[in-house]
Amino acid sequence: VPACSAHDVVRVYGRGDAEVRALDGVSVAFERGRFTAIMGPSGSGKSTLMHALAGLDGVDSGRVVLHGDGRREDVEISAASDAVLTGLRRDRIGFVFQAFNLLPVLTARDNVLLPMRLAGTRPSQEWFDEVTGRLGLSARLDHLPHEMSGGQQQRVAVARALLPQPDVIFADEPTGNLDSQSGAEVLSMLRSSARETGQTVVMVTHDPVAASYSDRVVLLADGRPAGEIAHPTTDTVI
Ligand code: ADP
Ligand code: ADP
Repeated sequence: VPACSAHDVVRVYGRGDAEVRALDGVSVAFERGRFTAIMGPSGSGKSTLMHALAGLDGVDSGRVVLHGDGRREDVEISAASDAVLTGLRRDRIGFVFQAFNLLPVLTARDNVLLPMRLAGTRPSQEWFDEVTGRLGLSARLDHLPHEMSGGQQQRVAVARALLPQPDVIFADEPTGNLDSQSGAEVLSMLRSSARETGQTVVMVTHDPVAASYSDRVVLLADGRPAGEIAHPTTDTVI
């Protein structure tokens, strides 16, 4: 059973002459514990697909399913209420977006911990130290966002998403604004989330180097699946 899947998903923007079929019948499944990159030309539907998978946007037809694992139930994301989606965001779905959305008055430590605090939980000290350490944030935890570089802020946002250990992590161009060193830290952290922790990671990227960290590339063109690359390297992803 995959961690999540889309079945013949259609998403149309606009009407009449202005109609754009951003997703024109997309079926794709994401296996548990795998790190998948979604690639394709600008306008091919990558963001729309990721938003539909993550329940941030609806679909016009077709279904998006977050699958259970024996302990938890299947949820039809494309038909779920806001209340259900809010609950899923607490422990089953995590996001890393290009806009970091850090709270400017909170230190890096408090930004990282905020979602878990709001959910009434806290990570173990070991897990907190491991995530922030691997992302190179140990010496920055008492800094405010404006005292950090863009790369450091992005790594704070990644730590915040990974700390609650969601089943599925959606990352939209997570290295888009990063220098190559910060980008490598973020990508290797996402890769080990899949390999070591068994989380499912779905990432939209334009960058062949970023894609080479993944286990599989799903290609989109004009709102349709357009092939796959297994075990991508920088040589196989152009
Ligand atoms: P990508 O992420 O691959 O660049 P998008 O999913 O952002 O592609 O967009 C797919 C198509 O849908 C594009 O033609 C885009 O212009 C169009 N589109 C995306 N969002 C909207 C929107 N909110 N309103 C109208 N058209 C949109
Ligand atoms: P990306 O860089 O991820 O492809 P875009 O620049 O395509 O993102 O889109 C950024 C935001 O603008 C998205 O939320 C998308 O829904 C919206 N958008 C994209 N294309 C259009 C469009 N033609 N009309 C209105 N909104 C759009």
